[in-house]
Amino acid sequence: MIIVSITGPTATLARQQVRASERYADLIEFRLDLLGGEKALDLLRVANKPVIATCRSEKEGGAFRGTENERWALLRAAAHVGAAYVDVELDVAERMAAFRAEHPKTRIILSHHDVGGVLRDASALFERMKQFDPYVMKLAYTAHDAGDITRARTFLTFARRHRRRAVAVAMGEFGEATRVLFTKFGGWATYAAPDRGAVAAPGQISASVVTTVYRVRRIDAATKVYGVIGNPLVQSKGVLLHNPLFKKYGVNAVYCRFPVIDVGSFMQECAPLLHGFSVTIPHKQTLLPMVDEVDEPAAAIGAVNTVLRKRGKWFGTNTDAAGALDAMETKVRVKGKHVLVLGAGGAARAIVFEARRRGAVVFVANRTEERARRVADEFGCTFVPMSDLAATDFDIFANATSVGMVPHVDSSPVPKAILRNKVVFDVVYNPPITKLLREARRVGAVIVPGTEMYINQAAMQFGLYTGIRPARAVLRKVLFSL
Ligand code: NAP
Repeated sequence: MIIVSITGPTATLARQQVRASERYADLIEFRLDLLGGEKALDLLRVANKPVIATCRSEKEGGAFRGTENERWALLRAAAHVGAAYVDVELDVAERMAAFRAEHPKTRIILSHHDVGGVLRDASALFERMKQFDPYVMKLAYTAHDAGDITRARTFLTFARRHRRRAVAVAMGEFGEATRVLFTKFGGWATYAAPDRGAVAAPGQISASVVTTVYRVRRIDAATKVYGVIGNPLVQSKGVLLHNPLFKKYGVNAVYCRFPVIDVGSFMQECAPLLHGFSVTIPHKQTLLPMVDEVDEPAAAIGAVNTVLRKRGKWFGTNTDAAGALDAMETKVRVKGKHVLVLGAGGAARAIVFEARRRGAVVFVANRTEERARRVADEFGCTFVPMSDLAATDFDIFANATSVGMVPHVDSSPVPKAILRNKVVFDVVYNPPITKLLREARRVGAVIVPGTEMYINQAAMQFGLYTGIRPARAVLRKVLFSL
């Protein structure tokens, strides 16, 4: 079930939200506490789907400030105008009996929202809720790291074992995956946001994304779970790329975002749910010693960006290196060429390693020169001070720094004069054409955007996850339609 929470706050916006959401929703929840209370009751008749009436108290993260009697009066009135369900909070559950006597056909969703905290004892909470025999039990708590999502799963496991309908949501960005994986965990429904207006709870995903990107209706116990770990992940395009590819190639899998602070706890708590995952900033290096096996490029680079479960063990690899060099080699073979790499972080190490492996002569420069000197020593290439860039003889320039990335789109890492008639590659892919590439083109350089590397490394990841090598044209189409 997909439940869309209507938040308004105006009646006009609420009506628009209902109209736009009905194509995705099985149930429509009206948040009476956000919609102005009693005066919103008329709105309930607008929906063509069964309605849930909810009036969330401030204590549980809502906006209702009236008395408990007023709240029950509102829920009774909602049942009277046809709400099929009412949401009742656990701490006033003893008043359910009187409501039931009056409205025996209205189903009760018994809910508990632990707004600040993380659920400690899912089993005790489940037992407490069970004694009131609601139609559905709903639990929401705040996740503080991706590992916290497993508490929702534990709660749903109890519910399934006792043949109870239940919803469990880990609120906030760290809990986002619980809103996608609910059927996998045995949940009855997910709460989604309308495409316009405020979300009813932090971390809620829009109904259109839940349905069309994650395709939650197709997720079942056999669906394989993949995802990306990093922090922050708001900028990550992975879910918008891998999920359409799963659809295109008919793979029963889903790709979620797992913002992670503590990688060790993620590996212990969350990773067992997954078949593989992509790794992004800042965890590419931290994760390396936590996998069972790494291939030679990942070990040499000192970073993994892809982790796969193989025969019960975690295997780490790095698709950035080949992704970048394959992109450059669409323009020129690097063997025997002079490649000047700017940067000394993870991307730079991947490019230096792979360029060397493919027979290039590599030069490294970096803002913090000591770091470049170390990379040069480690990979057997030549350190170049920033002041000597113009005097360096090179064929290919590779920017492996984040300079030029949004929001700093008016920055370029080097003066354009040094780029005349060279091949210029930029690791930055947002924006697709950076200031560096624009200027390089103006002085006659052949340019290679970071989007090409992104497409290559994502295609390799998809291949590792599924055994299918996606057509680059498909990937390009998906990426550029975002
Ligand atoms: P990282 O390990 O943090 O390294 C950042 C590098 O950028 C360092 O060399 C740093 O120099 C340099 N830098 C940062 N700000 C700078 C500034 N204002 N001026 C000069 N140098 C600056 O990051 P990373 O993992 O290597 O990622 C670098 C970039 O590559 C990011 O933008 C990332 O999104 C992109 N990337 C793209 C792809 C793709 O598929 N296209 C894949 C991976 C990464 P210092 O050492 O002096 O701090």
